[in-house]
Amino acid sequence: YNQLADSFNLMSEALDQRLKALTDQVNEREAVFRCMSEGIIAITNSEQIITINSAALKFLDLDLTEVHGRNIQEVLRHTALEEFMRRALQSSELIEEQIRLNRPEERVIQLHGMRLTSREGAEMGAVIVLSDITNLHRLEVMRRDFVANVSHELRTPITSMKGFLETLLDSNAPSPEDRVRFLQIISRQVERLGAIVEDMLALSGIEHREGAREIALEQTALMPVMNWAIELTELRAKSKGVSIVLECPDTATGFINPALIEQAVSNLLSNAIEYSSAGGSVVLKVSESPIETTISVIDHGIGIEHSHLSRVFERFYRVEKGRSRKSGGTGLGLSIVKHIAQAHDGRVSVESRVGMGSVFKLHLPRVGGGRTNDVLTPQLSDVSS
Ligand code: ADP
Repeated sequence: YNQLADSFNLMSEALDQRLKALTDQVNEREAVFRCMSEGIIAITNSEQIITINSAALKFLDLDLTEVHGRNIQEVLRHTALEEFMRRALQSSELIEEQIRLNRPEERVIQLHGMRLTSREGAEMGAVIVLSDITNLHRLEVMRRDFVANVSHELRTPITSMKGFLETLLDSNAPSPEDRVRFLQIISRQVERLGAIVEDMLALSGIEHREGAREIALEQTALMPVMNWAIELTELRAKSKGVSIVLECPDTATGFINPALIEQAVSNLLSNAIEYSSAGGSVVLKVSESPIETTISVIDHGIGIEHSHLSRVFERFYRVEKGRSRKSGGTGLGLSIVKHIAQAHDGRVSVESRVGMGSVFKLHLPRVGGGRTNDVLTPQLSDVSS
C-alpha cells in the first residue's frame, strides 16, 4: 500500500513538473509574440483565429476578446486579407502580398503566409505575419518622385535646346537675326540647366554635412550677414523697382554658419522680389526673443493659397509652374532654406494671403542651455521631405 502511495506521489510530482514546463513554454511563447513588432495570426483549417498577438490586434484595430476562436470573416472585414489567409491555407509554400489598412490609421502592410503542418504532416491551419512597411513605402515613393522630378526638370531645357540646335543646323539656314535669337534662347537654357544642377548640389551638400554633423556654427553679428544677403539680390530688386528695407538691431547675434544663413536669406529675398509686383517693397526683419532669433522676409506680392502652404518647402514644388520657370526658378530654393534651418536646429514657417503677400520666417534657437559647441548636433525638425 505504501509503495502504491509512493509511486502516486512520484507520478503527481512528475506531472506537476511537466505541467509547469508546458505553462512556462506557453508563457515564453506569448511573451515573444507580445514583444514582436510584426503581427502574427494563426488560424485553423476552418478559418478560426487561434492565436493573435498584440501587434496584429493593433494593426487591425481589434480587441482580443472579440477575436479569439471566431471566424476570420466575422471579425476582419477586410476582403484582401481574408482572401490572402484562404490562399495561405491552400499553399505549401511561403506566399506574400502587400495590402493597405485604413483603421486606425493608413498603413501599408506586407503579408507573409504559410500553411501549418504537424510533424506527422497533418494540416493544422495557417500562420500569417504582418509587417508594417509604411515608412519604407513612403521613402520609396519619395525616391521615385524625386527621380521623376529631376528627369522632368532636366528634360525641359534639353528638349528646347535640341529643337533650336536642329533649326540652326538645318540646310535652310535661318537669317542672321534669327540665329542670334536662337543662340540666346539656347544660352538661357544652358543657364537654367546650370542653376538646377547648382541647386541640387547645394542641397545634397547641406544634407550630407548635416548628416555628418560637419556644419560649423559660430556666434556671429547678424547685421553684416543680412547686408550681404541683400547685396546678392540687389540687382534683381533694382531692375524690378522693388525696395528692400532692413530692420535689424545692431546688437543682434546668432549662433550660425554665416555663409549658409546668407544663402537662405538671399533665397527668401529672391522669392519675395520675384513674387512682388514692380515698385513693391520687401522687409527683412530680425527679432530676438529669449528662446529664438527670427529672421522674417515680408512681401506684399501675389501671396500663396492656403492649400499650397504646407507643400512649398518640398523639392521642385511650385504653385505656378510656368511663372516660376519663366523667372528662372528651379523649385529648389525653399527646400534649401528648410535644410539650412534644420542644420541650425531651427525650422521654417510661412504665413500668406492671396493678393496680400507672404511672410517667410527662419526660426533659429538661441544658444543657452549648455549648447556651446561650435559644431552642431543637428536634429531634424518638424518639416520633413
Ligand atoms: P522657385 O525656384 O520656383 O521660386 P522655391 O522653392 O523658391 O522655388 O519656391 C517654391 C514655390 O513657392 C514657388 O514656385 C512659388 O510658387 C512659391 N513661392 C515662394 N516664395 C513665394 C513668395 N514670396 N510669394 C509667393 N509665392 C512664393
